[in-house]
Amino acid sequence: MTTLEEAAPTINQARLLSRLTELGRIGEQVNGGRTRLALTMEDKRARDLVVSWLDQANAKVRIDRIGNIYGVLDGHQTASPVMIGSHIDSVVRAGAYDGCYGVLTGIEVLDALARRREQLRRSVVVVAFTNEEGVRFAPDLLGSRVMVKDVALDEALVIRARDGVTVAEELRRIGYAGDLSPFGLLPSVYLELHIEQGPVLDAEEIPIGIVEAVQGHSWWRIIIDGTANHAGTTPMAMRHDAGLAAMMLATRLVHHSRDQHIPNVATVGALTLEPNAINVVPGRAIFTVDFRDYRDDALRTAERLVEHGLRELDAAGFITSAQCLSRHRPVSFNPAVCKLLETTAAEMGLRTRRMNSGASHDAQMLARICPSGMIFVPSEKGISHNPKEYTQPDDLARGADLLLSAVIRLADVTGVPDGTSDI
Ligand SMILES: [Zn+2]
Repeated sequence: MTTLEEAAPTINQARLLSRLTELGRIGEQVNGGRTRLALTMEDKRARDLVVSWLDQANAKVRIDRIGNIYGVLDGHQTASPVMIGSHIDSVVRAGAYDGCYGVLTGIEVLDALARRREQLRRSVVVVAFTNEEGVRFAPDLLGSRVMVKDVALDEALVIRARDGVTVAEELRRIGYAGDLSPFGLLPSVYLELHIEQGPVLDAEEIPIGIVEAVQGHSWWRIIIDGTANHAGTTPMAMRHDAGLAAMMLATRLVHHSRDQHIPNVATVGALTLEPNAINVVPGRAIFTVDFRDYRDDALRTAERLVEHGLRELDAAGFITSAQCLSRHRPVSFNPAVCKLLETTAAEMGLRTRRMNSGASHDAQMLARICPSGMIFVPSEKGISHNPKEYTQPDDLARGADLLLSAVIRLADVTGVPDGTSDI
């Protein structure tokens, strides 16, 4: 029997690194980093480059109606494919690794497998999802949400960017309004390789993180209306100070998280007061709150605290409203997939650690429709969404080789011990 070690080729590390650099040049900013918001001309140039590399890897390129790009390497059975991927859109002044590492490694995996195509039972598909970051179009994870029917395709296509254009218009403009159904290549299993974007692996000097869960979040915008009035003449007892009310509620929510860990973290990241003047009691306060947790019930408790706080303010004569800006349930990845990744890494001599993801990823959407898992590699000092984002080449190569070996098992390459019986 062929062992995994004999069967597993390694990915082309030099080419992966040079392509990461080349892709990272698209959208480069004079003040550092690159900005490649979804469906802009920069995104188009990045997509064109990725498509050309998929062609070079002898993959069949397909584009679906939400602009997700697929590179397909056909296996010789009709079973649904093994899918690997991530995204190539970015935040403002981003690093070069977030998302791109997963997509470009996926292409290397296809390239490594193309030479043994006749041994491949299941197809392998690389995907680059549309608008993962959600900076230009809300919500984030748009391409994967459409694939799993979290957002209907028709609704997604009419979402408007801040500058007024729709997803459909922009897809047509950049030439990525494909004709494939977003449900045309649904996978049997999904893997995503990503930089950690946090400090844990780097600090503990562990090369591989096996992600068990993604933190959920609940984002709110809260508006409190009181009465603007003279700061000198209005007695303290006769005020409807919207600013004070907002600060007290915000403090209560954040302290609840700090003291009772419900939710795991809570952040009031934006607060505006109107009229925002030194000598006027604020008449209106608007603030945001970002709750995150691995437990959905903890998120729900935090949401009830908001509701309760606003009811108290209403009773005290304020007019309040709360708008949910975004909500993701926490997600647990498939235990059998986690185990397969862990076992494969151990056989390759790689140390691993189980961990959770504080950031959102397309994999959390795919987890709704198929067994899914994620591999993390270290982010130096945990820095991400920043031009200084960096991962050592050796760490990139280790993660990529693990992905390749895991895909070889999942795609049921002839002669490789089967790792898929539980998946
Ligand atoms: Zn990402």
